[in-house]
Amino acid sequence: MTHGSPSSRTVNCPLCRRELRSAGQAYRCAKGHGFSAPELLAEQSTLASRLLRGVVGSLESTIALSADLASAAQEDGPPSLLRSVERELDDGKRTLAFVRARLLDDPDELDAYRI
Ligand SMILES: [Zn+2]
Repeated sequence: MTHGSPSSRTVNCPLCRRELRSAGQAYRCAKGHGFSAPELLAEQSTLASRLLRGVVGSLESTIALSADLASAAQEDGPPSLLRSVERELDDGKRTLAFVRARLLDDPDELDAYRI
């Protein structure tokens, strides 16, 4: 899709990820999926929410595993392993908080993570 600007970005189909071509206010991919602009916005939002929920599930598993490994490392692991696992645990918790803030669409919470 072009807008006559070199900075325009490609918009992909939310159903098959192929590039969308615009024709007026309609969008269509090579596979034949078609959307009006409002439909496309709604589908993109739904896709983003679904992907973020998958990320949340993955991060929750990473945090649970990291917590288990940190407990084991506190018992009999080398300090370097404990530091590494605790860092992974902190990173996972921070990323999870960011993603949850995005899912909840809480601008104040999200602002805390902006650089
Ligand atoms: Zn498509």
